[in-house]
Amino acid sequence: MQNKHQLGFIFRQENCVGCSGCTVACQIHNELPENVRLRKVDRYEITNGKRVKDVWLTHSCMHCDNPACLIVCPSKAYSTRHDGLVLLDRDLCTGCGLCAQACPYGAVAILKGDGKAIKCNMCIELIDAGKKPACVDGCPVNCLDIDNIAQVLQRTSASKEGVGYGDCITKPNMVIIKERA
Ligand code: SF4
Ligand code: SF4
Repeated sequence: MQNKHQLGFIFRQENCVGCSGCTVACQIHNELPENVRLRKVDRYEITNGKRVKDVWLTHSCMHCDNPACLIVCPSKAYSTRHDGLVLLDRDLCTGCGLCAQACPYGAVAILKGDGKAIKCNMCIELIDAGKKPACVDGCPVNCLDIDNIAQVLQRTSASKEGVGYGDCITKPNMVIIKERA
């Protein structure tokens, strides 16, 4: 059963211009090396009759209801908190890489420096200070946000389906809003 307090990412895919501002903001905030991305932006080419258009998908850890990372980790380095965010304690990580293999969204990276796993924690230190995650603030067209997943899913334009994204056995917590803002 879904946590009624579950937080997740809300993405207006129609509005995204693929600028990667979200990725860059995440890298700066988390002081990541250039080749490590906890948030990625993928491009898809959609054909509608003779018209071809580009659609982008921004994605990071989905803070899943059934997190494969947490289930497979032999060191119990993963936990969930009251608002459903899936957190990784890097002090407990041994760098076995099982979580990175298990995650269906490619959301876990292994840092070359210390050989340990790293992933999006939704900038909990910012959220707990009443602010938005770095990626949300880094989007110049406001197509990314966070919110209570159960409440947002009540809207008819909201679902866990989008271009390049769909629900799966881990029950991801990103919602796509289909209407343009
Ligand atoms: S997206 Fe991957 S890393 Fe994030 S909670 Fe789900 S299984 Fe774990
Ligand atoms: S910053 Fe916003 S518009 Fe740019 S790629 Fe990310 S989500 Fe899309």
